[in-house]
Amino acid sequence: MIDKEKIRQAVALLLEGMGEDKHREGLMETPDRIARMYEEIFAGMEQTPEQALRRTFETSDCGMVLEKDIVFYSTCEHHLLPFYGKASVAYIPDGRVVGLSKLARTVEVYARRLQLQERLTAQIADALMQYLKPKGAMVMLEAEHMCMTMRGVKKPGAQTVTLVTRGEFAKNQCLQEQFWQMMGR
Ligand code: ZN
Repeated sequence: MIDKEKIRQAVALLLEGMGEDKHREGLMETPDRIARMYEEIFAGMEQTPEQALRRTFETSDCGMVLEKDIVFYSTCEHHLLPFYGKASVAYIPDGRVVGLSKLARTVEVYARRLQLQERLTAQIADALMQYLKPKGAMVMLEAEHMCMTMRGVKKPGAQTVTLVTRGEFAKNQCLQEQFWQMMGR
């Protein structure tokens, strides 16, 4: 649960620590602004995609469903800086499908937390397996990390790619190849 008062105090202290005058005009509202922003960008801490993924529809078709290039924004837990990019989420239905917006919703729930890209990728795939119960799931994330591009090694545009396979996708190389074909790669 986000404690906005604590965040306000912490940001004020952070500004002091930076040698800033926290009372100057541009910074006066900053602690409160950040507390309110955190409530939004970390809203996923209090949520799960269970509700979204449990509203399913029957289907006799068992072909792969792929939602590609879902734009997401997340926050690196090592540096509290953003990482952002595109998620591609695929699953093989086992008699049930879910509304396409629910895949994007699932990505958003986990992205709006303090994250590692590797964990975010796995959480999306595991949520699909747990709540939608498909035959398999495959999730790929491609993201740019501000902690890579604005400091340290400074490689603008460098993409970190993570990939997770579950169920049939983990066992069946042909399904993975089909995923890449549908991705246009
Ligand atoms: Zn980082």
